[in-house]
Amino acid sequence: MPLKEACGLLGVFSSQYDESIAKTVYYGLFALQHRGQESAGIAVSDQNSIRYHKGLGLVSEVFNEEDLDLLGGKMAIGHVRYSTTGSNSLSNAQPLVVKYHSGELAVAHNGNIVNAYELRNELEQNGIMFHTTTDSEVVAALIAKSRKSLIDAIFECVEKVHGAYSLLIMSKDKLIAVRDSHGFRPLCIGSYNGSYVIASESAAFDTIGATFIRDVEPGEIVVFDEDGLKSFKKKSSKKSLCVFEFVYFARPDSTIDQVSVYQTRWEAGTILAREHPVDADLVVAVPDSGNVAAIGFSDASHIPMGMGLIKNRYIGRTFIQPSQRMRSLGVRLKLSPLRDLIKGKRIVLVDDSIVRGTTMGQIVRMLKDCGAREVHVRISSPPITHSCYFGIDTSTRKELIASDNNLEMIKEFIGADSLGYLSIEGLVKATGLSKQNLCLACFTGEYPIEIPREGRKYLFEKR
Ligand code: AMP
Repeated sequence: MPLKEACGLLGVFSSQYDESIAKTVYYGLFALQHRGQESAGIAVSDQNSIRYHKGLGLVSEVFNEEDLDLLGGKMAIGHVRYSTTGSNSLSNAQPLVVKYHSGELAVAHNGNIVNAYELRNELEQNGIMFHTTTDSEVVAALIAKSRKSLIDAIFECVEKVHGAYSLLIMSKDKLIAVRDSHGFRPLCIGSYNGSYVIASESAAFDTIGATFIRDVEPGEIVVFDEDGLKSFKKKSSKKSLCVFEFVYFARPDSTIDQVSVYQTRWEAGTILAREHPVDADLVVAVPDSGNVAAIGFSDASHIPMGMGLIKNRYIGRTFIQPSQRMRSLGVRLKLSPLRDLIKGKRIVLVDDSIVRGTTMGQIVRMLKDCGAREVHVRISSPPITHSCYFGIDTSTRKELIASDNNLEMIKEFIGADSLGYLSIEGLVKATGLSKQNLCLACFTGEYPIEIPREGRKYLFEKR
């Protein structure tokens, strides 16, 4: 199973009934499409009831104008999904809509609940029925079964669930944003025309013309209702923001916890150039994931940069392909070499990460086939040696090429003339954050919270 990334959330709390509220969410979800391409959904509340539309596929495939026209309301939440627990099926698409004592609730989740299995068993023993195979339904069920007020039920729920979660929860008259106490996944608040917007990434605000206000703090529960914005804070734990958001996930035009993703990637490229200098003629990025780090590498090394690889914009990310054979074709479908630029040159090939090594091996071969004299691979993050349990659908450890191959073996496998990875210290420095506040588990194996046994993605399908 290839690596996949976390999901995307977008919520709007409007000052008044807005018949085009779903369209705002729709455009916001477009800006977050990179965070999940398997399914999309929008739920709205007009203060009486919750209505929703969701489906499998891209935002552009799931909604048409008619669907959106039917979804007027005072508030709305939307979701784009990559499955990290539970398969890609319509029943698992979000927002999940469940009943609770005061009506209905819509729940959208980004992250991974590590004790979902135990919690679900417990709930089932107490007669709660489940309709999906996602860990997100455990959150919805915990809140829905409570007899307490919605806010107290959410407090109770966050005491029980462990792991990574950024959540949007909507009742008929409240929109609530929650970020887990470690702050694994991002979540931020903006405003436009007197309305509040909450998004996984700040880049979505630019798309819908909203202004960034602030990040939701780790452990914070923010309630938007008739009385405006209210913040509650659960006691916070050690902050563990996922560093991979900066390496790969997030858009370069996003800012997470006041750190620019673009700046971090550029810095990572400059540090990489200093850590692994090389005598070469041309820096080439693997588009788009290596673009910014390659600029940094070129700026620091003074080796000119050229567009040696051209990306076909109409092919989805290669990791969508299910089988290894399709993946290998996928790279060639996606990237074409610019022969005249590459021929006879010593190339520095920059990408953000190597997961299983398939992509890089193929690109190196492609460049060599085009007459590249040398190909020196430079990676703007450290070797990925451990699986993620906090919202990335990682391969099992044995699929990660760096989990049991040393640098020389990986270099041989991908056919490069040399290979250099950014150090952990270099990556941390590039973020400008303290190492203590980052989750670096995929590079170090040091998990900030206790992890479950391996292979939990299809946990609930197997029962
Ligand atoms: P691989 O062929 O498995 O080594 O994949 C490496 C490529 O996947 C690189 O170009 C990365 O930018 C990209 N990548 C890194 N992390 C992820 C992820 N979590 N999900 C999908 N692709 C990723």
